[in-house]
Amino acid sequence: MEVMKHMSVKVYNTLTRRKEELRPISENRLNVYVCGPTTYDYSHLGHARTNISFDMIMKYLRFRGFDVFFLMNITDIDDKIINRANETGQNWKELAHGFADKFKEDMSALHVNSMNKFQNASDSIESMIKNIQILLDKGVAYMIEGDGVYFDISEFPEYGKLSHQKLEDLRAGSRVDVNEKKKNPYDFALWKFKKPGEPSWPAPFGEGRPGWHIECSTMCNDQFGPTLDIHGGGRDLIFPHHECEIAQSESITGKKFVNYWLHTGFLNISGEKMSKSLGNFKTIRDILKTWAPEVVRLFAVSNHYRSPVDFNPESLESAKSSLERITNAYDALLEALENAGDDSSQADESMLNSIKERMEKIISAMDDDFNSPLAISEFYGFIKDLNKYLESGKNRKVLKEAKKLFDDANSFFDVLPERKDGQSDKTLESVMEILVDVREKLRAKKDFELADLIRSRLGEAGIALEDGKDGAKWKIRKY
Ligand code: AMP
Ligand code: ZN
Repeated sequence: MEVMKHMSVKVYNTLTRRKEELRPISENRLNVYVCGPTTYDYSHLGHARTNISFDMIMKYLRFRGFDVFFLMNITDIDDKIINRANETGQNWKELAHGFADKFKEDMSALHVNSMNKFQNASDSIESMIKNIQILLDKGVAYMIEGDGVYFDISEFPEYGKLSHQKLEDLRAGSRVDVNEKKKNPYDFALWKFKKPGEPSWPAPFGEGRPGWHIECSTMCNDQFGPTLDIHGGGRDLIFPHHECEIAQSESITGKKFVNYWLHTGFLNISGEKMSKSLGNFKTIRDILKTWAPEVVRLFAVSNHYRSPVDFNPESLESAKSSLERITNAYDALLEALENAGDDSSQADESMLNSIKERMEKIISAMDDDFNSPLAISEFYGFIKDLNKYLESGKNRKVLKEAKKLFDDANSFFDVLPERKDGQSDKTLESVMEILVDVREKLRAKKDFELADLIRSRLGEAGIALEDGKDGAKWKIRKY
């Protein structure tokens, strides 16, 4: 029964434009690759939206019993990185890896932690060269003197199948950069020959650096072999990036590259996609100065991963009050459990049934292409019932079942603020005692400037200090 349960998860596949039952290639293992960031700057809220969505999806699939292996790449070689490094005079690798670290910090603040592995593109150059050589040997790629190695899309008749465009139309199209020497306007670079001021690697077909698309095809193949279960990214990556990945990978291996293609909708601002190039972006770091990471996460999971979402402060404000409702209910539940002793009175059957039905509804919403807004509305329904129950009910069995629903749902929504373990609580208490004491002494010496500085810095760290008649009291701000 348990084993069969996960067979009912359906996902919308961009390739077939249908919802399909998710069937892993091998038993219940799911090999997943999601295109990661190009790390030349801080990540913005659009990146947060896409990555929170995939994190929720992977956590849900694990909750449903799949053995998910989730690989994310870091694009650490790319035009944008090289240009930025040349502008700032930094070494390209230091710049890219510095921002990759910042990206990982941002993700971890947002509880995006379901990845099993990060892979830097620059660590896979040797395999990329091998793959490009295979494409050249098969006659699917060609060289342009002094420029690079290109993929010939007319050699891959299925080019366009993911974005549902016809190869003839694409061959005739002229939107892509006009390079007279290319055979077709949409032919794309696999390898760019060495230019001054750019990093390069020796290769049999000429020293240079890889194009973006071959990076992902190669890292997928190195980790998982020819066919993956799931490949994801934001919808802007469908064309040309993922179309090109398919063309390369399937030409190299002769096998189907990906079974299920999942794409997230954009995070927009005033109706326009949030992006670096449009300059309309808010970095995750900036947002987290005002809003708790859990608020941002709840905002993201309250929307369906494929729908476009408009960013505005009001939606974060509303996520904030919803989060308060969730955490207050959870705190009250934990307190009730602590006080319940071993109350073994007759369990309230109707409450037990309602908890069971709510969880079934949450699961069936999530099974249907991860319909998290519907699942969350069921979760709010449960919280309403729970609050009512807690007014008088204290049966241990009911409370335990309620906690199980809470913990199960939170294992994928992951919106509850992290609780500290006892040891770090004690350390924090001792450190705070010292700080409060030092601050009292400063105030006694009338050094209010330094005393205020301590308070404001603690505030930035999420700790509120309130001065009162009996000295200062501190508490951790949850939101
Ligand atoms: P980039 O670093 O721009 O290549 O993007 C990394 C990932 O974030 C890709 O999957 C993009 O599709 C996604 N992404 C970028 N901007 C947005 C946005 N405004 N909304 C949703 N996803 C985005
Ligand atoms: Zn990619």
